[in-house]
Amino acid sequence: MKLTDEIYVYVWTNYFDNNCNSYYIGGEVGALIDPGLTRYVPDLLQQMAADGVKKEDIRYIINTHSHPDHLQGAEMFDTETIQIALHSKELEFLKGVGGELYGLFGITVPQMHINFPLTEGNITLGDQIFHIILAPGHSPGSIGLYWPARKALFCGDVLFEQNIGRTDFPGGNGQLLKKSIISFSQLDCELLFPGHMGIVQGRENIQDNFNIIIQNIFPYI
Ligand SMILES: [Zn+2]
Repeated sequence: MKLTDEIYVYVWTNYFDNNCNSYYIGGEVGALIDPGLTRYVPDLLQQMAADGVKKEDIRYIINTHSHPDHLQGAEMFDTETIQIALHSKELEFLKGVGGELYGLFGITVPQMHINFPLTEGNITLGDQIFHIILAPGHSPGSIGLYWPARKALFCGDVLFEQNIGRTDFPGGNGQLLKKSIISFSQLDCELLFPGHMGIVQGRENIQDNFNIIIQNIFPYI
């Protein structure tokens, strides 16, 4: 679904299988955020095509973290022409304990080359500047991709609409997740794009969502 001129939203709605939400930033940027599971990539590309986005338009795949339901599908893209991004800490994690998670789901770790290791700070994608914010807790090298010009935050599995990411997977840490959520709550944000469940729009709704999480969920972490 095309949400704005540049932002395309593909919220996962199949209750019979788990997969993540995917997002695409069009125009000069050409960034697909979290391609999801490999078996659903053809369907995602079909939905994108219906919105007028071609596979050749994609220049970057930005993975918020290495969990299979977010990253596995990156193996469907040609690393000769597409930059596949993951935080360097998450890449290290994927090579060790993080890779074992794939085994638990009965799938193998994608063998493609992560050719765009991320670190904290500004990155330029096409003609736009984004901030990479390291946000551990759900996984050690999870990131938020923040787009200051649109006040948009792609937050992966750090938080959701009235919920937070799991901390019981290998490399999870509740105290770090709290810190990451607090740091996200301080951003000037009007569009919140989580890795699962619905999106949250509007500054007030987003602040309310942070407040609900901090008041109702933090005491249990
Ligand atoms: Zn995850």
